[in-house]
Amino acid sequence: MKVFTDHCRRSLESIKEQGRYRTFTALQKRVDSFPYYVRPDGSRILVWSSNDYIAMGNHPVAVAAACEAARVMGTGAGGTRNISGTSPVHDELEAELASLHGKEAGLIFTSGYVSNQATLSTILNTLPCGPAHSWQCFSDAKNHASMIAGIKGSRAVVSIFRHNDLDHLESLLRAAPAEAPKLIAFESVYSMDADIAPLAGICDLAEKYGAMTYLDEVHAVGMYGPHGGGVSERDGVAHRIDIIEGTLGKAIGAHGGYVTGDADVIDFIRSTASGFIFTTSIPPMTAAAALASIRHIRQDHARRAKLFERAETLKAMFDAAGLPRIPSVSHIVPLHIGEASLCKAVSQRLFDEFGMYATPINYPTVPRGEERLRFTPGPLHTDEMMTALIDALSKIIPLERRRAA
Ligand code: PMP
Repeated sequence: MKVFTDHCRRSLESIKEQGRYRTFTALQKRVDSFPYYVRPDGSRILVWSSNDYIAMGNHPVAVAAACEAARVMGTGAGGTRNISGTSPVHDELEAELASLHGKEAGLIFTSGYVSNQATLSTILNTLPCGPAHSWQCFSDAKNHASMIAGIKGSRAVVSIFRHNDLDHLESLLRAAPAEAPKLIAFESVYSMDADIAPLAGICDLAEKYGAMTYLDEVHAVGMYGPHGGGVSERDGVAHRIDIIEGTLGKAIGAHGGYVTGDADVIDFIRSTASGFIFTTSIPPMTAAAALASIRHIRQDHARRAKLFERAETLKAMFDAAGLPRIPSVSHIVPLHIGEASLCKAVSQRLFDEFGMYATPINYPTVPRGEERLRFTPGPLHTDEMMTALIDALSKIIPLERRRAA
């Protein structure tokens, strides 16, 4: 339809003019050289922006499990979970995830995005307190797009609370009708700001006002807590959170998403969420990789310790070089740039001149003036790699901009 094609062209032109047009950088992720990736011309690029946070996507236990599962079961699941797409490894993985978070049951989705979108919209479209009472949903201002999609796709009355602001959350909870069902949706580690939610404080408020809690641990699972159960495990509050959601695609190094919670709640979502029912399940080889990875992560404390040691080392090196770091209490190390074009330019020069890759994070992902480069050092980033990064950034970012910060 020509009118729509014309509309697309005009919209794309406008997106490009605003500097918001996204392009892909094709880099081959490789088991034998991670965190170096390989360009189509064969040259290597040192990647600082992978969400394979603890390099489990390259770990021999995960790779072997995927290869063996593919050899035995082939590459695709061959159906939805209800129609020939459930193999024993899917069930085992769900049981493992439930146990990781200390919950009765788990449910896998095709991605973390879908798990948030499908679960939140399903819950918030029910009327547990009768037709007179819609859900009141309290959503952190910096929640991920997938949670927002689930919340917006429901009939809930939505209140956005200021990011990590317990006082604001309480004032909104207090103002909501006492009889209405309430749900607080929030993340633990916020990946763009590198900060962590006050989980215990949110649980206190949820208990005081009778609200259900929905926590996205996508950027924490596998890394935080004594066994990688996330910040909720680290802070000892997992039992106070009703639904813990996560991804298999970041620290676990595989692909897919999941929710865990009470058996009846999870069974209800399994039985009614269309984003779960009407889609092909994740391949058994992917489930096998995830399962092997989680079992490994639960007892490999050294890898988690190394991740945090590497992150703290990079933060200290940024500070020593006068590089304007955004304060971070997590494993994510954002560098403040403050201008979209400069952010892109720094990223481009890092790539072209120094063979390093760090994603520029620009508006609308972060507010204007808060543009940044986001670094995620992992256990395989060495001191030499970090020194090379600091040298490169010190050459690219003008001295006055560094010291002024
Ligand atoms: N939640 C958060 C906070 C995320 O950052 C992301 C993806 N970056 C998701 C959910 C979606 O997870 P997935 O990539 O597995 O779809």
